[in-house]
Amino acid sequence: MRPRAVLSALGIGVFALTSLMAAQQRRPEGFIAKAAAALGGETRLRAVKTITVAGYGEAAYMNGGGNISASPDAPQKWVSIPEYEKTVDLEHGRMRVRQRNHQNFVFAGLAGYLGAPNAAVALLDGKVAYNLGANGRAARAGEPAAQARRIDMLNNPAVLVRAALDPSARVANVRAERTLQLGDITMATGETLTLAIDGASGLPAWVRWMAHDENLGDVTFRTSFTGYLPVKGVMLPMGYNTVIDFRAVVQNKLYVDKNAVDEPIDDLTAPADVRSGAPPAPAAPAVEATRVGQGVWLLHGNGGANSILFEFADHLTMFEAPSSQAWTKALFERARATVPGKRLTELVVSHHHFDHTGGIRQAMAEGLTIVAHKGTEGLFRELAARPGTIAPDALGAAPKPLKFTAVDDHLRLADATMQVDLYHVVSNSHMAEGLFAYVPKERLLVEGDFFDVGWELYWWQKTYADNIAYRQLQVDSDVPVHGRVVPIAQAMQDIERMTKAADAVCARTQAAGVFTPGCPVKIPAAVIDAPAAR
Ligand SMILES: [Zn+2]
Repeated sequence: MRPRAVLSALGIGVFALTSLMAAQQRRPEGFIAKAAAALGGETRLRAVKTITVAGYGEAAYMNGGGNISASPDAPQKWVSIPEYEKTVDLEHGRMRVRQRNHQNFVFAGLAGYLGAPNAAVALLDGKVAYNLGANGRAARAGEPAAQARRIDMLNNPAVLVRAALDPSARVANVRAERTLQLGDITMATGETLTLAIDGASGLPAWVRWMAHDENLGDVTFRTSFTGYLPVKGVMLPMGYNTVIDFRAVVQNKLYVDKNAVDEPIDDLTAPADVRSGAPPAPAAPAVEATRVGQGVWLLHGNGGANSILFEFADHLTMFEAPSSQAWTKALFERARATVPGKRLTELVVSHHHFDHTGGIRQAMAEGLTIVAHKGTEGLFRELAARPGTIAPDALGAAPKPLKFTAVDDHLRLADATMQVDLYHVVSNSHMAEGLFAYVPKERLLVEGDFFDVGWELYWWQKTYADNIAYRQLQVDSDVPVHGRVVPIAQAMQDIERMTKAADAVCARTQAAGVFTPGCPVKIPAAVIDAPAAR
């Protein structure tokens, strides 16, 4: 306000002046120069050799798609990041991110719950992404990892602005947005990020970029930088907060302990054998169909979780579109090849967690009717409306209105040849809006996340037995989305063993004075009575 007032007093037209200022600000070099000046000056920034950011933080589990219900108001589950360190070698274009994390909620793997003994170490050396395993061995990571890490390296205001100063970077579309100035920076490697700087101070306020998500399609990430403090002549933020354009979920938080500039760092060069090898590409999906009953197949294979195929008189129904779009496409193709001549028309979704809906965009694009608990409809409508333009995305390429059948307590899918009962999952602390399926003729219980033979810990009380008792079912076999078909007696035995393992973990942590979520394990008698007994 002040310059305007002063100059107005001098008799210079405010309109002419603001136009002139806008014209100056629109020059890209002015925009980046202003940010560089605020961060310590162009010369200082160009001279920086290394930056290390150390701290801790939290990340939103499954980008907000792993909560107890599908409601936007469901409490967010957090993955805790007790140790985080990002080292950037600006001189050579290398980065290492070392972090530990553990789930700040109960789940099935010991390492996920308590944290793995070794920190995860992810590196980037130019175009080569690689990881350091627990044994210290380096292994090349795939192209998607390299892409994500190039963005991650730039997710630091000093690194980004210095990169933007490089003649190979293009700065375009400089504009004003309220008190901020924005500009789009495109790197020689192809990434485009939008930088916002404070109109007054010139300090970077946030950076924004887009990425692909199997469930969400195009996702915009925005990391805000706050709490700038000087370190050896460079201004660096003490807080990073990343929000996505899905329900404004805070996807990641980083609390900085220490910013270090030009301190000695390890050599982050990729070993020669890693550098010379080709980046690993995921194996092509290979799905097998195993018959588990008359008109019922378990579809399983090398690239993701299972799906279950039901054959009706004149159509096919699938239970679950898990993991990813490509995997689900392969599941659907196997389903059609298994029962030629019948149309696949329906997809039953066990629950809304994103590992169980990674292929739902594929199902929507193919025009399948989604059959799921009524509480998930809002979420699935949100997903259906999201564009997908960045990566191969079935729904982005062929948008379709959502066809949805809501299930409340029970829905029977039946014709002359097949009967499948869908029931709302009760007595469960993992999903409050879940469905399981029961095939009475074959006494099969088809489920997602009731139980997995591969789990180490079990926290869901007696959910499996409770649901069987509540619906008064006769079950011979467990037919799972995760794992393999087992007799129900084995599932119950495994659940008991896994529950005891969780109890032992609680005893161990509490003896050490550490109090972890879900402890002590609640091992009650049946939680609820069957409807007939009420
Ligand atoms: Zn789940």
